[in-house]
Amino acid sequence: MAAAPAAPEPETLAAFEAAKGFMPVQEGLALYAAAAGAGAALGLPLLEVGTYCGRSTILLADAARATGTVAVTVDHHRGSEEQQPGWDYHDPEVVDPEVGRMDTLPAFRRALHNAGLEEHVIAVVGRSPQVAKVWGREVGLVFIDGGHTDEHATNDYEGWAPHVAEGGLLVIHDVFPDPVDEWTGQAPYRIYLRALESGAFTEVSATDSLRVLRRTGRGI
Ligand code: SAH
Ligand code: MG
Repeated sequence: MAAAPAAPEPETLAAFEAAKGFMPVQEGLALYAAAAGAGAALGLPLLEVGTYCGRSTILLADAARATGTVAVTVDHHRGSEEQQPGWDYHDPEVVDPEVGRMDTLPAFRRALHNAGLEEHVIAVVGRSPQVAKVWGREVGLVFIDGGHTDEHATNDYEGWAPHVAEGGLLVIHDVFPDPVDEWTGQAPYRIYLRALESGAFTEVSATDSLRVLRRTGRGI
């Protein structure tokens, strides 16, 4: 089995930094280390919920390449609530003028192409709960970075956490235990607590708002 590299390739890091998105560098490096570790240990797919323009996907793709597996990334590409026109995280560059709605798929495709990592990613365009329902195998890592309402976060947890293999990782972004730090709500924090309370997951590391948990028990 492939050894786990500690850090992404320099070209990957450059492509990551150039990509639009919401993943700070330090948290991205922690995500990469988790993904490379899981890929090397289990050789199973690395799955992301919340592609947006591919910023974090680039890191998962590099980890997949380095460890001989594949990254799968799921998004309907129409944006989360807080990314819609008029909201704080809206970017008018990712609106499809013909349709009049957000479409992050073209920017994602460009970013992945520029990173030279297209062949290491399977992009699934669809709603997370629907995709989770037809998904039929274990994965080495699930990275939850999708919608931030309780409904979305709960669906992502209930839909995807069951697919994490024994010894695999559940990574959750935007975990803010203190409501003062909150910028998109505390739903990710609540699913993080639920994962710990389930007894199925044990915390491995915390880097700013990124939490890495390992499956050490059954169920969710
Ligand atoms: N990982 C990205 C940021 C993701 S932003 C980065 O590193 O920059 C959150 C994304 O989740 C948005 O693109 C939004 O379209 C997607 N999303 C929100 N709810 C979703 C759902 N129910 N199904 C699929 N994708 C969803
Ligand atoms: Mg996020």
